[in-house]
Amino acid sequence: MTEEQQQIRDLAREFAEGELRPHADQWDRDAAFPREVIGKLGELGFLGMLIPEQYDGLGLDTATYLVAMEEIARGDASVAVAMSVHNSLPTQMILAHGTEEQKERWLRPMARGEWLGAFSLSEPDAGSDAASMAAHARKTDGGWVLNGAKAWVTNGGVGDVVVTMVRTDTPDARRGAKGIGAFIVPTTTEGYSVGKKEDKMGQRASETVGISFHEMFVPDDQLLGDPSQGFIYALQGLDNGRLGIAALSVGIAQAALEHSLRYADERKQFGNAIRGFQGMQFKLANMATRIEAARALLFRAAAAKDAGEPVSRLSSMAKLFASETAMYVTTEAVQVFGGYGYVKEYPVEKLFRDAKVTEIYEGTSEIQRTVIARELYR
Ligand SMILES: Cc1cc2nc3c(=O)[nH]c(=O)nc-3n(C[C@H](O)[C@H](O)[C@H](O)COP(=O)(O)OP(=O)(O)OC[C@H]3O[C@@H](n4cnc5c(N)ncnc54)[C@H](O)[C@@H]3O)c2cc1C
Repeated sequence: MTEEQQQIRDLAREFAEGELRPHADQWDRDAAFPREVIGKLGELGFLGMLIPEQYDGLGLDTATYLVAMEEIARGDASVAVAMSVHNSLPTQMILAHGTEEQKERWLRPMARGEWLGAFSLSEPDAGSDAASMAAHARKTDGGWVLNGAKAWVTNGGVGDVVVTMVRTDTPDARRGAKGIGAFIVPTTTEGYSVGKKEDKMGQRASETVGISFHEMFVPDDQLLGDPSQGFIYALQGLDNGRLGIAALSVGIAQAALEHSLRYADERKQFGNAIRGFQGMQFKLANMATRIEAARALLFRAAAAKDAGEPVSRLSSMAKLFASETAMYVTTEAVQVFGGYGYVKEYPVEKLFRDAKVTEIYEGTSEIQRTVIARELYR
């Protein structure tokens, strides 16, 4: 780690240990964390880490961002996923494909954390096969009229700006993945409504909602780039997003390992601390080894991204391996805790629940394997 990365890590760790971890159980029960947390992340610069300084961001590289992401997730995965979506998807899509005017208008408040971003690709009937979406935009004078229902939107209600993908082709000339546009939509837009809030297994404090658009007018200057390329922009965004989720997964796993090491040292059975039993030692060794491997793969992918190399294969590999590591490590952590691992009074029960969705969102593990296999033949 560079000196700058160490400083960012220490800042993120201090924030996570002081301001996230002590409240994470309560937020999990409440199924929400206070909006002030987003404000504090913004003040620390954590919502503009990848946005250039000219738009009020910190202009850091991917690796440094991921160092911070791991620490925030070590404190609370729900806050981390809100931060990951904002940093990796809407802001990066605007940065990559927005006009200068769009960057000035949207990135500054997003970098400062005044506006929280969301990304809306999935629909109730279009998940892994997102290009089969039905929500659509009709061209009209000066803009587009959007209609349809989107699903599973992280920050879709509490957030301020959603980058959403909808069809721009016409029913008589469907163009599949090449008939989709990306639109920048404030959540206060007339015709934007927030539906059901999902009652989730884990990462409960992160808001996940359905949203719908009813005759929602979006002016031309809120269309991102080419109206037929929005799906491609979204997939490129997901290459960034998957690195964020991989770092988040490593953070969950690291927290579970730390709790397990402490517990195995304190808990006595048969007159000895359980860490003295080979059965426990092998578990702890496997957990730590997998975490190191996941982290190494993550930073290999980050280095490729920062060097400007194509990153789809590596970011899918990092997301796949890190999320499965989080699930493996948290499952083993529950076992290390025995019966106490199965109750909410002890921390690993929540970590186990928080880990599962990392194998599902931003592309399931099956889809990551599909991407990796496709890239191997490219
Ligand atoms: C908490 C949470 C937050 C989310 N946040 C967002 C968000 O902010 N924005 C957003 O757009 N979406 C979001 N999502 C949606 C998420 O990306 C989708 O749930 C995910 O892509 C899977 O889609 P699906 O749930 O429809 O499952 P399906 O696609 O129906 O998949 C069901 C099963 O079939 C398997 N499957 C499907 N196709 C294939 C295939 N070709 N080969 C092998 N197996 C296959 C899947 O791997 C899975 O096991 C979120 C989801 C959750 C749970």
